[in-house]
Parts: sequence; C-alpha cells; structure tokens
Amino acid sequence: MKPLVVITGASSGIGAATARAFSAAGHPLLLIARRRAAMEALGLPDVEIAEADVNDTPAVAAALARAVARFGEPDLLVNNAGLMALSSVVDQDPGLVQAMFDVNCVAMMKNSQLVLGGMRERGRGTIVNLGSIAGKQLYGDHTVYNGTKYAVHAMTEGLRRENAAHGVRVLLVAPGMVDTELLGNTGEGAVLDGYLAYKGSIGGGLQPTDIADAIVAAYSLPQHISYRELVVAPTSQDA
Ligand code: NDP
Repeated sequence: MKPLVVITGASSGIGAATARAFSAAGHPLLLIARRRAAMEALGLPDVEIAEADVNDTPAVAAALARAVARFGEPDLLVNNAGLMALSSVVDQDPGLVQAMFDVNCVAMMKNSQLVLGGMRERGRGTIVNLGSIAGKQLYGDHTVYNGTKYAVHAMTEGLRRENAAHGVRVLLVAPGMVDTELLGNTGEGAVLDGYLAYKGSIGGGLQPTDIADAIVAAYSLPQHISYRELVVAPTSQDA
C-alpha cells in the first residue's frame, strides 16, 4: 500500500477533490473536517475520517494516531482547510476575524507540527499549504482574508527553509478563483454580488479537480525535487 496522505478540509471543494485524486492513485487517507457525513459520502476505501475542528489539536493528534496504526506513517499533509468571509473590516463580525486566522493560519502550523518530527526522522515527506492569489496581492473587502493568506505564504517559505536540510518538502499551492463553497461565509449584499459578477465574467472559475491535479503533480515529483510555489488560476482571470 502507498503511504498515508492527510488532508484537512476534506468535506468539500478542493479538499474533497484532493481526497478523490489521492485515493484514485492508491493512497490511504486521513480526512479531517467538521462535517463527517460529507466525508463519508465520498465513499472512498482505506479512509480514516476525523470529525474535528482543525484547531482541536488533541482530536487531530488522536485521529492521526488511529490512521498511523491502520496505514503507517504519513508522507503528505495537505493543509487545505480554509475560511473566507469578505467584508470591509468596519462591518466584519469579530468572531470571523478570529476564525479566519485560526483556521487559515494557526491550525496550519499546529497540524504541521504533528507530522514534522516524524518526517524529519525519516528524511522525507511533503507538506502542501493552500495559499491563494490573495496571498500575493490585495483585493477590496479582502483585508482579513488577505492578511491570513499573506501569512500563509510567509510561513510556508519559512517552514520550507527550516526543513530543506532534513529532506522534507514544504510547498505552496496558491489558487485563483475556484468554484467551491468558500463564498458561503460571505453574507449577501454588494460584496458578494461584486465577487459573483466578476467570477461569472471569467467563466465561473476553475474546478476543484484542477487544483487537486496540481497537488498530485507536485507530490508525484521525486523527493529531491520540489516546486516551491504553484499559482494556479483561470487563464481568463486578469486580477
Ligand atoms: P470550501 O469552503 O469548499 O472548503 C473549505 C473546507 O475547509 C471545508 O472542507 C471545511 O469543512 C473546512 N473547514 C473550514 N473550517 C474548518 C474548521 N474549523 N475545522 C475543520 N475544517 C474546516 O472551500 P475551498 O475548497 O475553496 O477551500 C480550500 C482552500 O483553498 C482554502 O484554504 C481556501 O482559502 C483556498 N483557496 C480557495 C480559492 C477559491 O476560489 N475557492 C482560491 C484560493 C484559495 P467543514 O465545514 O466540514 O469543517
């Protein structure tokens, strides 16, 4: 059996597509998200499902231990879980400010800590962090989300440097617009309407499978070769 792949935010969108892609390639999986039913509905074989908040480190660690007992040590962690609530800061729910940093940034580092020690000991392994084109440039009403993704980009490069000499790859996949449930946390109104109008004008965005394919391609390289950063966006996206 191929090595264990761990994917956070596997209940929808890019995470679910990535789970399907690695399962099709013969990997056992640990899938982590809050909606168990959506992960079960994927119907994949050799899967450990963890119904957990990505910031519940003891729950994630326990799920990882269960998956390791069944399938062996993890060779890939995809830090994909993410939250985007677009708004001007003055109008933003403070709870969502906190939640975006907790999910997009804090959990990414805490969950990387759970696998890094073992990967270093084995002298191999890969961590893929989901950044965004919003980690490279600013957009209106994206201030907090932009901040989280700029942080993701900085921390991914820092983590890459820390682990390069240990043979562990750490890389960034930064999508442009992808058609997923990510907009679900942006309330109705002009901000959502503007986003949807632009998305429609460029053909609706990429499919989650397009990003999953990029993650599989990056992982499939020999361990001594690493893409450091993949920015994957619709050809028609001009911003
Ligand atoms: P979705 O909303 O479809 O998926 C987000 C996933 O994150 C869900 O599986 C959700 O699961 C999970 N999640 C959110 N909060 C938590 C939490 N507290 N604990 C555990 N899991 C959580 O969006 P995408 O597939 O689009 O997003 C995936 C990643 O891609 C994100 O990091 C996003 O920022 C990034 N991205 C997306 C782009 C796009 O245009 N769609 C563009 C650029 C980057 P559940 O609700 O079940 O917990």
